[in-house]
Amino acid sequence: MSALPASFSPVSFDRDAATRIMRRCRELRAISASPGAYTRLYLTDEHRRAADLISHWMRQAGLAARMDAAGNVIGRIDGTDATAPALVLASHLDTVRDAGTYDGQLGVVTAIEAAAALIRRADKEPLPFPLEVQAYADEEGTRFHTMLLGSGFVTGLEDASVLAKADSEGVTISEAMKGFGLTPERIGDARRQAGDFRAYIEVHIEQGPVLEAEGLPLGTVTAIAGQIRAVVRVRGMAGHAGTVPMAMRRDALAASAEAILAIEAVAKAGADLVATVGEIQAGPGASNVIAGETRFTLDLRSGNGLAKAAAFEEIERRLREIGTARRVVFEIEVGSNTGATACDPGLIECIDEACEAVQGRSLHLLSGAGHDAIALAGLCPIGMIFVRCEGGISHNPAENITEADAGAAFAALLHAAQTVIRRG
Ligand SMILES: [Zn+2]
Repeated sequence: MSALPASFSPVSFDRDAATRIMRRCRELRAISASPGAYTRLYLTDEHRRAADLISHWMRQAGLAARMDAAGNVIGRIDGTDATAPALVLASHLDTVRDAGTYDGQLGVVTAIEAAAALIRRADKEPLPFPLEVQAYADEEGTRFHTMLLGSGFVTGLEDASVLAKADSEGVTISEAMKGFGLTPERIGDARRQAGDFRAYIEVHIEQGPVLEAEGLPLGTVTAIAGQIRAVVRVRGMAGHAGTVPMAMRRDALAASAEAILAIEAVAKAGADLVATVGEIQAGPGASNVIAGETRFTLDLRSGNGLAKAAAFEEIERRLREIGTARRVVFEIEVGSNTGATACDPGLIECIDEACEAVQGRSLHLLSGAGHDAIALAGLCPIGMIFVRCEGGISHNPAENITEADAGAAFAALLHAAQTVIRRG
């Protein structure tokens, strides 16, 4: 990866800040369930230790830090008008299993660094309204097979009804909360209201290869893709691999192969669409038996709800055609269908300006991955800054960014926050 373009001297670029961001990401990495792999799950001892360290950094930055009823860490400074809606800079502190160093953590420590810089210069440029840094306790949902739990409790996307969910050992969220020292009956206390926040900005690694291909440290997110997750079952007829002539077969696996290529073709033909079949099982499952049935997953994403719906209809149509031609039956069961989350046009403009100041130009990106910003969009305008990661690799120990890019992210977040503050 290249460093920042030499022709641009980034606004407020602070080498110490970049070094500190990288060091703190490594310090958080050391707080793991096992020494070999980086894993930090919700309501564990590691969660507690990471929260303590993050609270410490928040206090050093000049923020008052507390843990909310869901285990999120909230840092706040009131500014001149403590009753006004706050500007929120945030990301998550949990990880997947055997995670990379930057997913979530980069956003948290960059937000703390930006808050520290804003507080340092508050004598010249007072904060007219509150500033909050939020570190969400569970975004990945690794332990309880959930989504956006930490930010969901803050925004009301989740409520007490989820507390009965259990991890693979049978421990419910409610029990784990008690063990952690939280009170499940008070989970509602984590809830914030519309009007509490004026804007939300999150720095996050891209988790994809586009910025690296463009030679840019940063990108402006325009929307977070909506997603259909479905299971497709194909019923044909099992038979003897030696005796059933090719023309008489009802081979569910061959039909699935054709269907998977058709799904790929539909996604390739559309703009702003990705479709993935990531898992397949065939039965009865023997080398000398024609597959009688298969089951495969479908993950379809787009930033455009109409494009997603149209692509799904087209996939249904193509699968019906294949089913008729091959005398097999396709059944599609939709497990979840979430809408796309648009970033706020005002914040997109503000982040574009920041990226132009830092790296000379801005680039718009669609986020194919989900983020806490989805939950926050229920309460206030959201914006996101993506940071280049090596090879686009994420959810993997090989996840990597450069210190220069961390510095660029810090400079852009600070620039964007200052614009929000100046606009009032
Ligand atoms: Zn993340």
